[in-house]
Amino acid sequence: MGLPQVLERIARACRRAGRRPEEVRLVAVTKGRSVEEIREKVLAYGTFPLGESRVQEALKKMDLLHAEWHLVGHLQRNKAKFAPRFALVHSLDSLRLAEALEKVGEKAGVRLKVLVEVNLGREPQKHGVLEEELPELLPRLREMPHLEVLGLMTVPPIGPEAVVRPIFRRLSELADRYGLPERSMGMSDDYEWAVEEGATLVRVGRALFVD
Ligand SMILES: *Cc1c(COP(=O)(O)O)cnc(C)c1O
Repeated sequence: MGLPQVLERIARACRRAGRRPEEVRLVAVTKGRSVEEIREKVLAYGTFPLGESRVQEALKKMDLLHAEWHLVGHLQRNKAKFAPRFALVHSLDSLRLAEALEKVGEKAGVRLKVLVEVNLGREPQKHGVLEEELPELLPRLREMPHLEVLGLMTVPPIGPEAVVRPIFRRLSELADRYGLPERSMGMSDDYEWAVEEGATLVRVGRALFVD
């Protein structure tokens, strides 16, 4: 495995699903990886958005690597002020966080790009809104001039294809229903299913770094 193999598998999954490979972007999740590893295993193959779970770790790496940075992990409200450093926040998971981000965007004079994280597996330990909250939440977000909601994101429960694939399908259905173009779904163990089910952003970490 490694990045070229992951790209090849994404392309094959696209062909199986009758999609064009350009519709899917690989977000290289670099949490826990050194700058040297990121250069060798990711950036040696081209330019890719880099995803981090924690703000502090991301900020350190930003000083050392020029890249498009995405935040894929939970954002605490007291760290909302760092959101403008990220090209995309995948993990908007509450109205209160949205309100904090709206203020940050206004102050910085920018429109922050976000995805709404949906806890489709309804796991209590996971972040994300429940799907039945979307009809109320999305219109509220659309009223916020410094937020731009581009799509939805999900982290499915760990499980077999019969559990995970329907979750990905559901995220695509919801994105369609609300007219949102981006679907961030799929990690090292399940990104091919995610691509077949309509992912536009896959967040792959481990598979890029194993030898
Ligand atoms: C770590 C992480 C990933 C990548 O997971 P891998 O299993 O390493 O591919 C994707 N999304 C989120 C939210 C993560 O925290």
